[in-house]
Amino acid sequence: MVIVMKPSAPQKDIDELQKRMEDRGLTVHISQGVNYCLLGLVGETNQIDTNQLEAHEHVDRVVRVQHPFKLASRMFHPQPTVVDVGGVKVGGGHTAFMAGPCAVENEEQVMEIAHAIKDHAQILRGGTFKPRTSPYSFQGLEEEGLRLLRKAGDATGMPIVTEVMSPEDVDLVAGYTDMLQIGARNMQNFPLLRRVGRAKTPVLLKRGMSATIEDLLMSAEYIMSEGNIDVILCERGIRTFETYTRNTLDISAVPSLQELTHLPVIVDPSHACGKWTLVAPLARAAVAAGVDGLIIEVHHQPEKAMSDGAQSLKPHKYKALVQELRQISELMKSFVVS
Ligand code: PEP
Ligand code: MN
Repeated sequence: MVIVMKPSAPQKDIDELQKRMEDRGLTVHISQGVNYCLLGLVGETNQIDTNQLEAHEHVDRVVRVQHPFKLASRMFHPQPTVVDVGGVKVGGGHTAFMAGPCAVENEEQVMEIAHAIKDHAQILRGGTFKPRTSPYSFQGLEEEGLRLLRKAGDATGMPIVTEVMSPEDVDLVAGYTDMLQIGARNMQNFPLLRRVGRAKTPVLLKRGMSATIEDLLMSAEYIMSEGNIDVILCERGIRTFETYTRNTLDISAVPSLQELTHLPVIVDPSHACGKWTLVAPLARAAVAAGVDGLIIEVHHQPEKAMSDGAQSLKPHKYKALVQELRQISELMKSFVVS
């Protein structure tokens, strides 16, 4: 971290600031230029409040050299992390296809979909605690849904992933699922992040619709700092001025995250676009961008789905898409330009 003093800063204030930083256990390197005096801080600068420093009358600005996230940073952990989700590996060259209905509606529905996709997806998804925009919309089957999703996963040999919305439900949901999903709307629900950070189950962390890449990584840091390092990041579209699609898929988030972090990165093209006709092109783009997996909504009767039918693929379309995605994935291995 570098503190840039104002040209008018009296020597007495520079000395005082240097002492304050040294008292915090940091080493301070002073560079005196013609106009500006710089204080280069070396050590645990994460605990330094840059706002407080910038409030100082003689400080011009404070520049962070390191990223504020550590455990999630590739700088501290160059090798890619491989997350094991109930026996399915994600990351470090292992690409995982996750699919299933937006919401678990009843036993017949989830069983039908699970059987239809089991040869094309490795992980079964399904919401049982649903974060709906309207309190009057279907909110999910809760524990009964967890039981049905588990049953469908076991019957088809697929691990399962489902969303948890509140800290009180973490133990209940973790008791059924192989991966806990933190939804976009909860990406900065810090008590929830800390709570799943104390669970022993991997976490699928979705990017908030107005969150920057750094915000997403800081949320991963919350989870990891509590001990749970099995975190998968998911780009699921962000809010922009565009209204034709539900959100805007930020494809650049994939290689950007891969530069910044060792954690696996997946894409959810379904919530990104909101229209089933756009899911395939976005999924192809995500694989070409180098994702570690995809999570896609599939429903055998989208016109009767209790949530997100318009963005759900029918199983035969999903199957055909996965076959194409595997071809793109294969082709990607021959590309060398970075
Ligand atoms: C979901 O995956 O069902 C979901 C609600 O996603 P998001 O949190 O990305 O909106
Ligand atoms: Mn959905």
